[in-house]
Amino acid sequence: MKILISEDDPIFKTILENNLKKWGYQVVSTSDGRQAWDIIRKPGCPNVVISDWMMPEMDGLQLCRKVRAHEAPRYIYFIILTAKGEQQDILQGLEAGADDFLTKPIDYVELKYRIRIGERIIGLEEKVLELARKDSLTGTLNRRAFMEKLDQELERAARKNTPLSLLMTDIDHFKQVNDRYGHLSGDRVLKQFVSQMAQVIRPYDFIGRYGGEEFILCLPDCSIKEARDIAERMRSQIETTPMQISTSRPPIHITASFGISLFSSACEKDPESLIKKADDALYSAKNDGRNCVRMAQP
Ligand SMILES: [Mg+2]
Repeated sequence: MKILISEDDPIFKTILENNLKKWGYQVVSTSDGRQAWDIIRKPGCPNVVISDWMMPEMDGLQLCRKVRAHEAPRYIYFIILTAKGEQQDILQGLEAGADDFLTKPIDYVELKYRIRIGERIIGLEEKVLELARKDSLTGTLNRRAFMEKLDQELERAARKNTPLSLLMTDIDHFKQVNDRYGHLSGDRVLKQFVSQMAQVIRPYDFIGRYGGEEFILCLPDCSIKEARDIAERMRSQIETTPMQISTSRPPIHITASFGISLFSSACEKDPESLIKKADDALYSAKNDGRNCVRMAQP
């Protein structure tokens, strides 16, 4: 884990740095609040900030207030260090949004354990964020998380001038599965459907649940021909692998339809229109008798 130190006393800063490194942390350090603020706004900024209160340019409280007002992608655990120790000061620090407060001279054993508390909080926050990104039934990304990741991949594809394929898929006649076997069985079918697709995709492809029994896949750096091969492998695997969802019942046979659209640097970088094209292709697959793969019109 990376920790940012913001401290204007060079000797104290060095001692602090050495201790943190000895405990296995990566350390970035600055000697004033303004430099620290610059680092915090950059991508991949440290999760824990240990900041002195009194510093030139921008003090620890101002820095802390800015951090709290800033929409960082992840929570930043903020520890303020100060020679002040009156209760009034502590309240001021906590009011600015500090998570913890240590008075100088620092007890390093105490600091070590306080950083661990920060790590636990950051770890919990990551778990919550992870849960919020997932579809609770199938474990794929939910629609919102998928769209966020798709935006990043489209950005990358445009910048690197690489293709990207989008695949929409839908289980054929899924309503009949629910009607015939019940919703619990329907849910199990959805889970197995996802795990079968997951066996075919590459490690950097990702799946999102678009709605009900409709899923969307992003295949970065993938030409339309490769995407068609992947979709065809999925289609065939699903058709030929009956789903054993209960020991007391015969397996359920399902098929699925697939629609593919392609992003290339010549296209407009618009996720909605890319999805619309894949959805139209999926609609064609349904019209052409289902259990097939169709490509969007270029
Ligand atoms: Mg100072």
